[in-house]
Amino acid sequence: MATPPVDPAQLAADIVAGNRRALAKGITLVESTLPDHRRAALALLAAIMPHTGGASRIGISGVPGVGKSTFIEAFGGFLIEAGHRVAVLAVDPTSALSGGSILGDKTRMETLAFNLSAFVRPSPAGRTLGGVTRRTRESLLLCEAAGFDVVLIETVGVGQSETAVADMADLFMLLLLPSGGDELQGIKRGIMELADLVVVNKADGEQRNIANQTLADYRSALHFMQSRCAQWQPRALACSALHGEQIDAVWAAIEAFYAAMADGEALAKRRAEQARSWMWSEMGESLLNDLRSDPRVKRALPALEAQVVAGELPATAAALQLIELFRSS
Ligand code: GDP
Repeated sequence: MATPPVDPAQLAADIVAGNRRALAKGITLVESTLPDHRRAALALLAAIMPHTGGASRIGISGVPGVGKSTFIEAFGGFLIEAGHRVAVLAVDPTSALSGGSILGDKTRMETLAFNLSAFVRPSPAGRTLGGVTRRTRESLLLCEAAGFDVVLIETVGVGQSETAVADMADLFMLLLLPSGGDELQGIKRGIMELADLVVVNKADGEQRNIANQTLADYRSALHFMQSRCAQWQPRALACSALHGEQIDAVWAAIEAFYAAMADGEALAKRRAEQARSWMWSEMGESLLNDLRSDPRVKRALPALEAQVVAGELPATAAALQLIELFRSS
């Protein structure tokens, strides 16, 4: 067996001591899929585990152009001014689907990226959204161990990544554009239901009135929506990320969320549930990988898949045959 590329215990100690280069190195390690690196990453995560859990984990989503990076730049700056240390992570589904990237651009959030109280990391690349998500979850733990007390996890409003981010954040914030129409911007109801906080951005200049109308629309929509938990009724606000207006109101709403979620340990329960479902999805992914790489399955797969595609064999029958092959091997 090749020796691990790093000493996980030493790296953990350096991360906990607040060494930024160690943090970056740790994140690179958890992003690697090489088996040796993976082993070292797991040892690293086990070592830092007692130092995790201390951050406000905030998910931020919205369509391209809504102003996510402008908002994070303004919000991050506001938080640092208030004495916080802010890490920014991302889950970019496009890096998994097409190899391209909507969020990965390194020139974004320049001011924040150069601030010593901030740590900005673009989305890891990956073949599956599950893989991208896992690495972001693990990076989140590393950022907490390094003493960042606010972690912003950005994603883009396309695909399934919102659910993935809502599953790792304490609070899920949906950024929206001002819109004149009475229709709710084609936001899928399921995504709205994930939101703990809805923020209408670009409430400035000519769009200020439209933004206020949009805000009123969403307030009433939220009113009729089932909330994710009894302790917190989702709120809607408007802000201007570009002009730094109402950024403090967004933070005040987040603080109100944490105060409410302390009741009955609602936040602890949400995190426990997230950890449990992460464990199950890890098992699912891992078993599926084993199945895919099994030589007998690999041999039988093309023919069976072709029969399923041609409508000659029911998908369930093919799946069962493949699983039986795997079990017999
Ligand atoms: P992202 O794709 O969601 O990250 O959006 P960006 O942060 O890149 O913003 C897209 C465009 O909207 C840029 O031209 C920003 O300058 C502009 N923008 C962002 N926030 C605001 C805002 O609060 N008001 C106005 N008027 N423009 C904004």
